[in-house]
Amino acid sequence: MPRSTTLLHSDVVVVGGGVAGVAAAIAAAKTGAKTTLVEAGPMFGGELLTGMCINGGLNARGQYVNGGVARELYDECAKMGGLIGPVHDFRLICYVVLDPEIVKIAIPTLLDRYGVSPLLYSFADDVVMEGNRVRGILVGSRDQRWLLTADFFIDCSGDGTVAVMAGASYELGDVNGTLQPLSIMYRMCGVENGPLLSFVRDHPENLALGESDYIRAGRTDAQLAEELYKQGEAAVFFKANGPLLQNAFRRGELFPTALIMLYPTSHARKEVCVNVTRVAENIDGTKTDQVSRVLPRLMQQVMISACFVKKNIPGFENAAISAIAPRIGIRETRRIVGEAKLTGDDARCARKREDGVAKGACHIDIHGAGQEQIRIPVGNGGSYDVPWGCLLPKNLSNVYIAGRCLSSDREGHGTGRNMGNCLGMGHAVGTAAALSVAGGLRDIRDLPVQRLRAVLKEQGAILDGVY
Ligand SMILES: Cc1cc2nc3c(=O)[nH]c(=O)nc-3n(C[C@H](O)[C@H](O)[C@H](O)COP(=O)(O)OP(=O)(O)OC[C@H]3O[C@@H](n4cnc5c(N)ncnc54)[C@H](O)[C@@H]3O)c2cc1C
Repeated sequence: MPRSTTLLHSDVVVVGGGVAGVAAAIAAAKTGAKTTLVEAGPMFGGELLTGMCINGGLNARGQYVNGGVARELYDECAKMGGLIGPVHDFRLICYVVLDPEIVKIAIPTLLDRYGVSPLLYSFADDVVMEGNRVRGILVGSRDQRWLLTADFFIDCSGDGTVAVMAGASYELGDVNGTLQPLSIMYRMCGVENGPLLSFVRDHPENLALGESDYIRAGRTDAQLAEELYKQGEAAVFFKANGPLLQNAFRRGELFPTALIMLYPTSHARKEVCVNVTRVAENIDGTKTDQVSRVLPRLMQQVMISACFVKKNIPGFENAAISAIAPRIGIRETRRIVGEAKLTGDDARCARKREDGVAKGACHIDIHGAGQEQIRIPVGNGGSYDVPWGCLLPKNLSNVYIAGRCLSSDREGHGTGRNMGNCLGMGHAVGTAAALSVAGGLRDIRDLPVQRLRAVLKEQGAILDGVY
């Protein structure tokens, strides 16, 4: 049945209601813009709904490096008992975890508080251009088609879909076009921390520990495992080259993987998030048919790995799968080419910049096939700045980007894609878009970055210091 097209005008349209998009929409609306947030799925939150930990929001010293909207989200979740952290992994980073069920409540609450107009079940599939300006975005929903017009658009689709439809250039994968594996996250409840952490303390040879000099600080694995034990949280990384997993691979009891990563998601449910599954066949995450074909194998891996941990890891004996992520996790697709690039060197050197609009603190994290994974710490247990130009696509006048599709080299992407950074980047572009509307500006480059930084700081963003 042909659907009618409804015209809807806003000051700012944000495409993608995941981590960066939610932050962008809240920031734009808070800063005074009439804002619409478009999400293809049935719920806002993107990867925040899986239960994985929020990396890059704190440095390895345990200091927050992103405030503002990120802080507001954490506080909203904390009010409902849905924030755990800061948690130390005694490996590379500190992080926080939000209970994904509470995130489902917190995000609509915040969007509603600031008057963001939500559009769920709505996929942006075309753009109307005038030169290098997007005039409108065409969005298909269950019952109708929308033409969303706005002064400024923010692409938080993860894949840079809007920017690419509008003509932006992008890069993909490594020099050979290799992309990171796809995974599906799941959670298990009924996990007993006592036996799990005793096992950790007694068998440090199984754990990934002290992978940064700052965290190692001359300590042995046994000493670091003792710290994990004392921390009392199910924040555990079983490494591929430890005896537990090596024996499992040899016996054929577990598929090849780099780590079994556990993060606590709810004390009340005794629940952890399990990050272990992977299909590394250079799947292009923007290709629906390629991604869809992977689902049965990922689901088999969920079952295989859940049985493995129940049988082999103390504390899991009575655990059960409590949730599986609502979608396949895609780590890497397009990196939009912007006015600047975040690089691996920025992370290694913990580089600070006068044009920084957000911070990151997660290690460079690039998953490979089988047991492979590159993990390179941020220098000196510190943080780096994301330059403003990483969020400004070249050759487009009114489209910002934020989130996983940021302008970066591959290593820069390996760190910048993490959720702490995404919240900070989203905050920056949302505020910038609203300020640009209020100032009658026409181009994303017209807003002086020092003015943006000043307003972001007034809004609680952390842009100075933190090592
Ligand atoms: C398996 C896996 C494990 C990870 N582990 C961690 C971790 O432990 N810690 C960490 O911090 N980060 C982790 N990451 C990285 C991090 O989760 C993502 O890089 C980050 O969530 C990206 O945020 P985003 O806002 O750019 O995209 P997303 O959170 O993916 O949001 C994008 C949203 O846009 C919507 N969308 C896409 N296209 C359209 C369209 N055309 N129209 C409308 N809506 C659209 C999607 O439905 C989605 O909701 C992991 C990622 C994966 C896949």
